[in-house]
Amino acid sequence: MESFDAVVVGAGPAGSVTAVRLSRAGARVLLVDKARFPRDKPCGGGLTMRAVRELPVSVEPVVEHVVDRMGLRLRYGKRIDRRGSAPLILMTQRLRLDHHLLQQAVAAGVDVREGVKVTDVSTDDGAVSVRVDGEPVSGAVLVGAYAIVQAPSFGGSARYLVLLIPLAALVCLHPRIFGPMANLALNRMGKASLPRTMKTSALVSMVALYAASWVLAGAGLYALIQGVHPVQPDDFFVVLAAPAVGCIAAAFAFMLPGGIGAREGGVAAVLQLALPLGVAVAIAVALRLLQLAIELGTAALTSLIARRTRPR
Ligand SMILES: Cc1cc2nc3c(=O)[nH]c(=O)nc-3n(C[C@H](O)[C@H](O)[C@H](O)COP(=O)(O)OP(=O)(O)OC[C@H]3O[C@@H](n4cnc5c(N)ncnc54)[C@H](O)[C@@H]3O)c2cc1C
Repeated sequence: MESFDAVVVGAGPAGSVTAVRLSRAGARVLLVDKARFPRDKPCGGGLTMRAVRELPVSVEPVVEHVVDRMGLRLRYGKRIDRRGSAPLILMTQRLRLDHHLLQQAVAAGVDVREGVKVTDVSTDDGAVSVRVDGEPVSGAVLVGAYAIVQAPSFGGSARYLVLLIPLAALVCLHPRIFGPMANLALNRMGKASLPRTMKTSALVSMVALYAASWVLAGAGLYALIQGVHPVQPDDFFVVLAAPAVGCIAAAFAFMLPGGIGAREGGVAAVLQLALPLGVAVAIAVALRLLQLAIELGTAALTSLIARRTRPR
């Protein structure tokens, strides 16, 4: 089996630069990429000066334009131009930049292999072994300089059924379901039936807005939780469902002002599928306080605007 001090997977800027640094430090380095260079990538091609300062090699041969000014304009309004005393960004093309950095790695003594894919990473006795186009290669260190986008595993987990709650609630809003259900409840309470239900077109836009706001709130909540407590990527969809379930719980508990308690209960009940109960409750309460602050802020702002725009 071939053996190296370091195996670097991915010869984008991160991989090539790491390989250059390791090789210059005296390590025996293998740099592997499944693509053949020069290869292109979707990229604006802007190199910030901070990034340039971090590089162990010069990028001058592949710089096509030096940007030292910027312009700002809002809605075709007045344009503000500012010029920096030093370059702001260097413009290049990834086709050229990545190839140039790869060549620098070759010049630094790195063993570069293009057009070969790395698979089957395993660790054994402090060493790492990988398969490079099917052939085993070992290294003391493996550097993964490539992006991994992993879809969360649904792995037969019943907790994802929680996603059916918001879905069912949205389906129940259909006039043919909501009308008879609401009338049944009203008649049981001795009240008159609803004179009419919503039009389908209005309902569709309302459902779309609700769904969008729940997805946005759920994604925001996932990011917030990440900041305070570890949460598994697999639990993304569970967290996504929490604000929706809280909102539905509050709608059912309409006799409570602002659905207080019901909303937090709904959010915490869902979050505890992914987090310890104490953390789930604390986050549900924090979410309510945040929401309250936003609502108070909006109320203050709207009354201020109304006062300013009121005809004198
Ligand atoms: C639209 C767009 C515009 C952008 N604009 C800018 C910009 O203006 N300025 C800026 O600084 N950044 C920009 N970026 C971000 C920039 O493209 C990335 O940060 C950069 O590409 C990351 O470099 P990297 O070396 O980590 O990975 P990459 O450049 O993605 O390189 C990873 C390499 O790994 C290889 N690889 C993957 N899997 C394997 C495998 N199993 N075996 C072997 N090889 C493998 C791939 O072939 C690839 O060459 C932009 C990104 C996008 C999408």
